[in-house]
Amino acid sequence: MTCEKAQHIAVVGAGIAGAACANALVRAGHAVHVFDKSRGPGGRLATRRLEGVDRHGQAWTTRLDHGAVALTARSEAFRAFVEQTLRAGGLADWAPKLAPGGSASEVGERLYVPTLDLPALCRGLLDGAATTWGFAADTLHTGPLGWQLQSGGERHPARFDAVVLALPPAQAAPLLSPHRLDWARHAAAVPMQPCWTLMGVAEAEQTSSSPAWDLARPVSGPLAWALRNDTRPGRARVPGQAHWVAHARPGWSRQHLEQPAAWVRQQMQAALADCLGRPVDWHHAAVHRWRYALPPLNGGASAASFWWDAAHGLGVCGDFLGGSAVGGVEGAWLSARGLSAALLQHATQASAASTECTVH
Ligand SMILES: Cc1cc2nc3c(=O)[nH]c(=O)nc-3n(C[C@H](O)[C@H](O)[C@H](O)COP(=O)(O)OP(=O)(O)OC[C@H]3O[C@@H](n4cnc5c(N)ncnc54)[C@H](O)[C@@H]3O)c2cc1C
Repeated sequence: MTCEKAQHIAVVGAGIAGAACANALVRAGHAVHVFDKSRGPGGRLATRRLEGVDRHGQAWTTRLDHGAVALTARSEAFRAFVEQTLRAGGLADWAPKLAPGGSASEVGERLYVPTLDLPALCRGLLDGAATTWGFAADTLHTGPLGWQLQSGGERHPARFDAVVLALPPAQAAPLLSPHRLDWARHAAAVPMQPCWTLMGVAEAEQTSSSPAWDLARPVSGPLAWALRNDTRPGRARVPGQAHWVAHARPGWSRQHLEQPAAWVRQQMQAALADCLGRPVDWHHAAVHRWRYALPPLNGGASAASFWWDAAHGLGVCGDFLGGSAVGGVEGAWLSARGLSAALLQHATQASAASTECTVH
């Protein structure tokens, strides 16, 4: 039996959760339209372009991964996805040289990074979906003709049978509250952890052609992670330059969340120099403030890995759902996988009951 009428589904958020959900729905033959407030996909799988002029007056540009450090795969389902994406060239193994003395046990797993840049993983999953960038959804309207999305006082003309929100909880909550106040309250109460991130280009160490380490997990001080971006697979290497990304601890980031960026940058540059045990000769450095970087370690909004309301055609997925079982990129992907399966089951049941379905 096939259904002649595909469902029209809006996915709000083009991070890994939204992209994975869209991918499953497109592959099942539905018409999917993905909306994101940013200029492209990726969400917290983010890569930033930096540019500057070196001391010889030469202009340079580079791209630094200032979002997720790396992917790990613990569940069978996500491992299968990772293996398939590795074979297709969308992911690469990253075996960094670890700094001594750090909590290396925490990074004793196999690590992966998307090829080229972090958003590439999401870009690849969005094939076949319509996309609208620069659309910050602020209201969801529902009526007899379906769902409509609004941004900045204007309704998008498309109507949808179902809407999926794949957003951090603080951003999902206001959209949910007119429709599912219970979910909105859960989402609004999730204390997402912030993260200040330093990214910069420095003079490479002169003493050796390769860095002493590519990844550090300091046990004390402001930094939780520090990494050499240019030693990651597929990233640009520039002779004489070292490309650094460092993430501050959640507690430090929260304590200094409202500090001026210049102050935070100086503190983090000093902390990185401490980690390296030597001064760093910076060409350029900048910081990014992630207000909603990671869900709390002791569990997210609910133990359910996704929310789906079949009566309204409204679903929610993202890394903040699923309790503390698996977080990060894998948690977001698993959440999306669960929601898309529930949505597909619902669509199959709806089409079986519909006169639009034909038996061949
Ligand atoms: C600094 C940092 C380091 C991390 N390190 C790791 C790591 O090493 N390993 C790991 O597994 N995970 C890591 N994570 C977490 C991981 O990046 C996230 O768990 C995962 O990417 C979340 O995916 P998501 O799709 O749920 O949400 P997001 O990636 O946040 O996607 C949500 C999307 O929604 C969009 N959006 C928000 N509001 C609206 C709106 N109103 N309308 C339209 N669009 C909207 C955003 O622009 C965004 O694209 C890290 C995160 C950060 C920030």
